[in-house]
Amino acid sequence: MNPLTEQEIRAAFVNCSKGEAKRLSVPRDLAERPWDDLDFLGWRDPRAPDRACLAVELDGRPVALTLRSPAVTPGTRRSMCSICMTTHTGGVSLMVAAKAGKAGQQGNSVGAYICSDLACSLYVRGKKDAGIGARLHESLTLEEKIERTVANLAAFIAQVTA
Ligand SMILES: [Zn+2]
Repeated sequence: MNPLTEQEIRAAFVNCSKGEAKRLSVPRDLAERPWDDLDFLGWRDPRAPDRACLAVELDGRPVALTLRSPAVTPGTRRSMCSICMTTHTGGVSLMVAAKAGKAGQQGNSVGAYICSDLACSLYVRGKKDAGIGARLHESLTLEEKIERTVANLAAFIAQVTA
């Protein structure tokens, strides 16, 4: 994806108030992120471990979400990320996004199981290892897996903004 600036990211949040978007913690090392290998940028708020955020470009426009997620607890249960289809042992968290606009203010939310470290792009490319058996043997090419990851994320965001 194209690199995003802090300003672009803050302006891209669709499911929180402008004030919240201003106060959210955005990574300081944006310039050093491996943008070429990212389908979306995901991060956790170091000051609020139950908060996660992600930013992506959809149709050339940056879109960002804030998510609630329980702090990562090492577990033995294997589960699959619904975005990148990587299976982890204890490395997938339920992430809940308040819906955009009025629906969100009324308490409606959408949840998805996502890699706890939000590093889906790197797992798909084999740049980060989730351990033995993490990836099903699939006949898809890397490009197809990347397309699927982006499509899954776009579908999640569409639910949030619906
Ligand atoms: Zn994932």
